[in-house]
Amino acid sequence: MSSTAAKTVLIVEDETPLAEVLEEYLRASAMEVERIEDGLAVIPRVRAAPPDLILLDLMLPGRDGLEICRELRSFSSVPIIMVTARVEEIDRLLGLELGADDYVCKPFAPREVVARVKAQLRRVEMLNRPASEIDADTVGRLVLDEDRYEARLDGRALRLTVGEFRLLAALSRYPGRILSRARLIDALYDDHRVVTERSVDTHVKNLRRKLASAFDGRQFIESVYGVGYRYEPE
Ligand code: CA
Repeated sequence: MSSTAAKTVLIVEDETPLAEVLEEYLRASAMEVERIEDGLAVIPRVRAAPPDLILLDLMLPGRDGLEICRELRSFSSVPIIMVTARVEEIDRLLGLELGADDYVCKPFAPREVVARVKAQLRRVEMLNRPASEIDADTVGRLVLDEDRYEARLDGRALRLTVGEFRLLAALSRYPGRILSRARLIDALYDDHRVVTERSVDTHVKNLRRKLASAFDGRQFIESVYGVGYRYEPE
């Protein structure tokens, strides 16, 4: 699909009023929207006509969002934003490494969800840009666009979740300096949700894996046992 065509968002949500509100907001942002309420219908739908992004509720009739997410990841890299009813669940989901790109918790502000949808769509668009469009001046540099949650290292776009982006932004602000997990928790969430140090570890682990796979195994983030983490650009 070309970058100028309207993007299609698939909302998988069995609470109809909630799905309707999201649909309204996404359409107002010039996106196409399709809705599914039954968990069993998701995989066939995505195989038949892949959307540009999926908003996937966790608790669904027919089949739960966990299983659906796992199966989607076996054949598709479509951005997935998981929607959960409980904030405590996000930690558990992160630990399961489902491959979702972001998580939102109910009740949410529709505007916030739209912003996260847009951030994911932009990320994919950047990844798909031809190499010829990448600016040679950016080699050796980490460039972070904090409004758009976009990260580029050596001119290469990184596909990061919002959490991973925030961690990288916090660590790279102090290259070579160790930041404690507690400090990284503050960087991760600005809404005082309950998070554990374990979830910082999970985010860092995912971030390191993404950096290593984009840069031939190079490690940019060092784990300092019992203390925290340090960003080492060289
Ligand atoms: Ca539900």
